This record gives sequence, structure tokens and C-alpha cells, in this order.
Amino acid sequence: MGQGAVNLQLPAGALILLIGPSGSGKSTFAARHFLPSEVLSSDAMRGMVADDPNDQTATEAAFELLHAALALRLARGRLTVVDATNVERWARERLLAVARRHGRPASAIVLDLPLEVCLERNAARRDRQVPAAAVRRQQAAMRASVGGLEGEGFELIWRFSSAEAVSGATVERTVGKA
Ligand code: GDP
Ligand code: MG
Repeated sequence: MGQGAVNLQLPAGALILLIGPSGSGKSTFAARHFLPSEVLSSDAMRGMVADDPNDQTATEAAFELLHAALALRLARGRLTVVDATNVERWARERLLAVARRHGRPASAIVLDLPLEVCLERNAARRDRQVPAAAVRRQQAAMRASVGGLEGEGFELIWRFSSAEAVSGATVERTVGKA
């Protein structure tokens, strides 16, 4: 039995977090459903500050830039998608705080695919691979904390557990306060 195609109705001006380990398809999903300008990616920010999206020493600076861009966009009521693993509660909290400060709703899209799918995609990718152990660790962190998303303050939460469900999903923006 399939779960049927899911239509994600995103609130206007919202913060949208993609949540999932490397290889879960966050950047692919973002590119498919959102404008490039709506997506703030930690990899792109690493590239911006260090000329290398893989440079882990640039992570702190990358997130500083990401948070600054997020705040400026949310202040203007622009829907903004954060493309980072977001598997740790503390990382999500920092982003939620920015949304709260600007009175914007926050929603989460969880790409909770089987570990093997993430590992296979990670191993097959040509742009950059992360160690398999990192993918495992990210998935474990996600699964340990995802049940608490509502309590963290996310208004709408969508959780996808298969590649088929992800590829069937459609995205719609609802009209609302901006
Ligand atoms: P991220 O690390 O979560 O941002 O994952 P990416 O979006 O970069 O995807 C990782 C790899 O999986 C890339 O090589 C993608 O082309 C591939 N990929 C992502 N989504 C899908 C999908 O729905 N189907 C298939 N077959 N491959 C996908
Ligand atoms: Mg990515």
C-alpha cells in the first residue's frame, strides 16, 4: 500500500528546514521545488567563504553567513529553505530562534530514507563523498531526535521514508501573512 502523493502546503514567509543525512536527497529536493534564491545551503556557504564546499574548517563561518542571510530574508517575509543536515537538535534550535525573532512559522521536511539508500548514493556521488560512518552517525542523530520536532516548535512536519514518496511529493505555497 502506498501512502499516496503528498502535497506540502508551505506557509508564506516560512522557514523550511530540510532534515536528513548526507545522500538523503536534500539538495536534489531543494533544486526541484524551490528557487535557487530561496535555498540557503551550508555547502554553498562553505564555498562562499573558503572556495571549497567540502572545507569543514569553514563550517563555523558558513553557518554564520547562513544565519545572517536567513535573518535578512525572513525579515522581508521571504520563504527560505535551509539545506543542511539539520539532524542535531541544537542546530535546529539556532535556526528556529531566527524564525521566532522575525515572527515567522517554521516547518520541517524530513528525508528519513533507508540507510542503505543514503550510503549507496553517497558512495556513487562524484561531487563529494562523506565517510560512511558520518552518514550513519547523522542518521542515528536524526532518528533519535525526530520524534520531538513538534515540541521543538515546528508547525508542520513532513516525514518521508522512501525515495518513491519523496519523488511523488509536490510543493504548494499557501497564501498568508508575509
Ligand atoms: P544531500 O546530501 O542530502 O543534499 O543529497 P543530494 O541531493 O546531493 O543527493 C545525493 C545523491 O543522490 C546525488 O548524487 C543525487 O543525484 C542522488 N539523488 C538524490 N535524490 C535522488 C532520487 O530521488 N533518486 C535517485 N535515484 N537519486 C537521487
Ligand atoms: Mg546537499
